[in-house]
Amino acid sequence: MAFELRPVPKPKHKRRSKTAKQRGQVTKPVYAMAWERSGGRCERCGKAEGQAWTLEAAHVERRWRYGQEGVTAADIVILCGPSTDSHTCHHWADYTRVGREWLLKQREVNKR
Ligand SMILES: [Zn+2]
Repeated sequence: MAFELRPVPKPKHKRRSKTAKQRGQVTKPVYAMAWERSGGRCERCGKAEGQAWTLEAAHVERRWRYGQEGVTAADIVILCGPSTDSHTCHHWADYTRVGREWLLKQREVNKR
């Protein structure tokens, strides 16, 4: 016999809690949904991807805030970046108070 009967049953539950990093991760299907919603443009200024900037997925919340379900398409907004460049929407959204408020509002819009 090639296969032995194992006395120990398979565990029914999945791996324990995900790490904060895993919860904050944007999976490909989630990114694809957000990308489709954005129409390939920055969801704030409407800029399409260009040579001088990239379009990035901005997290509405800080990574560690996400629950076990992780990041959904409503939790990310496609913005022009990089966030390290102060002229971009991603920078504005991540580093200014009005930007963060805008992100939270945008999530409510995205949920509809
Ligand atoms: Zn923009």
